[in-house]
Amino acid sequence: MIYLILSDIHANMEALEAVLAAAGRYDHALVLGDLVGYGADPNDVVERVRKLPSATFIRGNHDKVAARLASFEHFNHLARFAIQWTTEALTPANFEWLAALPTGPIAIDDIVEICHGAPFDEDAYIFDDLDVRRALATAIRPLCLYGHTHVPAAFRMAGEMYVVGPPRGDRFRLALDNDARYLVNCGAVGQPRDGDPRAAFALLDTMARTLTIVRVPYDVASAQIRIINAGLPEVLAHRLAIGR
Ligand code: ZN
Repeated sequence: MIYLILSDIHANMEALEAVLAAAGRYDHALVLGDLVGYGADPNDVVERVRKLPSATFIRGNHDKVAARLASFEHFNHLARFAIQWTTEALTPANFEWLAALPTGPIAIDDIVEICHGAPFDEDAYIFDDLDVRRALATAIRPLCLYGHTHVPAAFRMAGEMYVVGPPRGDRFRLALDNDARYLVNCGAVGQPRDGDPRAAFALLDTMARTLTIVRVPYDVASAQIRIINAGLPEVLAHRLAIGR
């Protein structure tokens, strides 16, 4: 089985198209939430992912707030502005679809589970050692994939916990040992924050037991123009060019 892993697309249609073109053959897509928010194309992105032939979705915090299932009181002013814009821009059908997205974590098979923030809380950020240990202790599958921070990261636990990587560069391949547990963030499709502006996605091959994080360039300038033309804050366009 080959899974395509997509997280934090954030209404960036240019990045999504580049990722889908680069992904090649896969059996099933795992979409880890934050389909909308920040970017200028929430409807195009939702309609594109809904057309994926085989996919499992969970919601992200931006999807939840855009669908008015949660308040934006914890959002900074940029995220708040963008999410209000997004709610108004969404078609009724796409709004309803986002509102119905399931809550993570979801166990996909015997190997992998997916969550947006952390397996113990869909909205929690995995930042420090304590968060990583708690996530590894809570995960119910040997490979737990998360998003939300927009920074690729990989942790391995086999008795001791240690950091793998960091997963940077064009293709970062992680060989999954049978006797270890893993917690991996495959990066963001639509708003990378690790200083590499290229879109990030991953392919998980459960037969070969490899997880490969791939970076792919996309038309950043076009995504920036759409953000500015939409009347969204310019800083949301500028950050795409620097990957922050
Ligand atoms: Zn996000």
